Amino acid sequence: MPHKIFEIDEIFRPIAGHVVDLSGSSAIALACCCKAFEEPVLSSYWEEQSLDKLARVIPTGVLKRSGLNRSSYYVCTPEGSKVAKESSLTCAVLQTTTRLPTQEERDRLLRYAFWIKRITCVITRRFEAFFKILQLSSPTETPFPNLRGLTLWIYPPLLRFLPLFVSSRMSTFSISVYRDTPFDPKTVERDYLAAVVAALPTSLREFTLRIDHAGLGSGELKEEVLLMIRRCGQTLVYLKIDVELPAVTIQRVMRLPNLRTWEVHRSLLPATLTSCSEATYLPALRSLALSATNTYDWVIFLTSSYPTVDAVRSTLTELNLNDHCAVDPILIAQICVFTNLTRLEVGWSCPEDRCTFALADDDLSRLSLTLPRLEWLTLGHQCDKNTCRTTFRSLLFLSARCPRLTSILIHFNTMQITQDIRSLFETTNPGIKELWDSPTRCQIETFSVFETPLSLKGSDELDVVKRGFLNVFPRLRNIARRCGRTWQCLTEALEK
Ligand SMILES: [Zn+2]
Repeated sequence: MPHKIFEIDEIFRPIAGHVVDLSGSSAIALACCCKAFEEPVLSSYWEEQSLDKLARVIPTGVLKRSGLNRSSYYVCTPEGSKVAKESSLTCAVLQTTTRLPTQEERDRLLRYAFWIKRITCVITRRFEAFFKILQLSSPTETPFPNLRGLTLWIYPPLLRFLPLFVSSRMSTFSISVYRDTPFDPKTVERDYLAAVVAALPTSLREFTLRIDHAGLGSGELKEEVLLMIRRCGQTLVYLKIDVELPAVTIQRVMRLPNLRTWEVHRSLLPATLTSCSEATYLPALRSLALSATNTYDWVIFLTSSYPTVDAVRSTLTELNLNDHCAVDPILIAQICVFTNLTRLEVGWSCPEDRCTFALADDDLSRLSLTLPRLEWLTLGHQCDKNTCRTTFRSLLFLSARCPRLTSILIHFNTMQITQDIRSLFETTNPGIKELWDSPTRCQIETFSVFETPLSLKGSDELDVVKRGFLNVFPRLRNIARRCGRTWQCLTEALEK
């Protein structure tokens, strides 16, 4: 007789789950020798299992590999009909088999099919593995009814299988479509995408759509994305779309009441979109990432669209600007509207021939005054031109006024760094002196200079620069750099 504990599901099931967490092979061994363990162990096991492993239980010969495309395994149902079959999910399941599964194989497959229904999260780059799995399940119902998160990398011909994966419990839907040829908006693939979107639960929280090899014109996929926003807009907290969206969709996005994170990729700002003073724009937004070809226009649009009420525009805490966004005073002035930023990143590199970092010390002074909560500041990688107008003084502004900073990446000119630091030690300007003597400092231990050159004459200058850095960054221990023997000397001096 098994011990009574085996009958108390609430106790026994977590124990089995724990054994699976500790060691999958031990759990399987237990399940094989003790009947009571089998169900709870398998249950826990399949919730976490990789589908590739499941695919290995399918007997060879039951599946036929299409000769046309390496990634186009097709599905055969246990019934094994040779006719393409319409399921209730309006998804045609192609059935190509070299032979029908035997009864024993079918029983085994269906037994595993029961378990895959428990899978709650799927992330895969190998979509073809799914095709094998699908045959384990009846094509007339969702193979993964418990799925809460789905992340797929997929090719357009496989889109037809997508509706099979949508479950009513899903909270995260993420799909990346890879295309070898330019996407034809008239192709049937769009219909499948539309079918998926129409089936998404209205409680969806996260949505990601990526289409590689874009070349999408304005308006393509507009209906699908708009449909998704209409359907799931009330609950969406995360949105990442990297296809070009028309103005009407962007305006719709900007009214999402609960959106906390928005990643805009590759979408041009439509010329028809003008600033708006509606107070309801993105009231919950915390994080915004822009990676568009006209990022600059986006920033101007977004900052000027926000109302002047501080309470609304101060919600944003993270701003990330990638690609083609030169750092200049106008951009920084716009960004300073978001007074509660903790993270500001501008992914910018100067072109080969010249430096385009266009800020001066006054701009960094203003930034440090208006964004005192900054924890992370990246304004592009320092180039080796050393022609910028910011100096060591900017580092002082940031360290003294933004004490939470853990990373700073800004250009600063080192041509006269020794004189700059000496003038700070000897300053009679009361405002600067107060900052220079202030005990408030950020706690940076590693400071990155990337390609900034540095040359110092003798150990006197090295000592001045060292004392200057330690006054601004008292915990500094390391200078991270691409090159430069002098920076190396400074790091060694800091270690002493
Ligand atoms: Zn530069």
